[in-house]
Amino acid sequence: MNITDITEFLSNYDGEELSFMEVCGTHTAAISENGIPSILSKKIKLISGPGCPVCVTVADYIDRLCTLALEDNTCVVTFGDLIRVPGSSSALQETKSKGGRIRMVYSPFEIIDLAEKDTDTTYVFAAVGFETTTPIYAVLLEKIIEENIKNIRLLTALKTMPAAIDTLCQMGGRIDGFIAPGHVSVITGANEFKPLAEKYNLPFVVSGFKGEELLAAIYALVKLKGQGKVLNLYKSAVTDTGNEKAKALVNKYFEPCDAVWRGIGKIANSGMALKKEYAVYDAGSRELIHDNVKNKKCRCGEVITGFSSPCDCPLFAKACTPENPQGACMVSNEGSCFHYYINNRG
Ligand code: SF4
Repeated sequence: MNITDITEFLSNYDGEELSFMEVCGTHTAAISENGIPSILSKKIKLISGPGCPVCVTVADYIDRLCTLALEDNTCVVTFGDLIRVPGSSSALQETKSKGGRIRMVYSPFEIIDLAEKDTDTTYVFAAVGFETTTPIYAVLLEKIIEENIKNIRLLTALKTMPAAIDTLCQMGGRIDGFIAPGHVSVITGANEFKPLAEKYNLPFVVSGFKGEELLAAIYALVKLKGQGKVLNLYKSAVTDTGNEKAKALVNKYFEPCDAVWRGIGKIANSGMALKKEYAVYDAGSRELIHDNVKNKKCRCGEVITGFSSPCDCPLFAKACTPENPQGACMVSNEGSCFHYYINNRG
């Protein structure tokens, strides 16, 4: 079927009501930017799941970064989007204004240059992300060890998707299928989602990020409804088994651990932590267990799990805007609330 026919089918669909979830922040952004919800029939609903790494990072983690930034001879190094995420009492940008040492970088490897130029300071990288990003931290760690750099640590909040999707499926929300995460699938391979597809009799379609690729994925989900199958429509980047080299490097330095997700809580085996033998490079990641949010009215947890739309939140577009975010989902350019606000997705 060509894209015109697919678009027409999805616009005119008049069958049973269906809800599909995307669990990749880049898909969330692409769906909004391409205006896909406005193309779909009212009977096909797209829900954004926990696919934005910043959005699922708990306040406890932000609090730890703030504390580290205020310690003597310590500097926190982070990507820019984490700096505005509220902790339980303040965000990193407020800590910076109080004298906390925080450096924003575009690449984690910039930390090596910083650490080599200032050996009296311990540089702590805020390492958040999913299966896509963990290999980068493994490469970074390999370099740190090779170059015998003693003043770099990682504060990790690394997550893995399958256990989180498993938890979502058990939470009882209406989900008829998943747009499987594109970037994550490049590393894990499409087969990663087979056990979940079979366990819950739900289709998983691996999709690229262009508008027409997403429409083709949604069309496939409609056609596969009720079938526990994985379909890979992103074969230019995703294989059945993924990137074995990247997985081996990750397994050299990291091991599965329980992880706490913002709004969901602790999920067994849903994270990756540095192995015990590399604990010297860890800034205390395993102690982060609380999900204490600052603004109790923030519904990030319900938004991340698909139980609420951002528009259902009483703070949306009022007290909470991208300029004044009250929750992580409004901060990140992969967050659902941000995209509902920017692109008027409703
Ligand atoms: Fe949280 Fe703001 Fe989203 Fe409401 S609109 S759920 S306060 S991020």
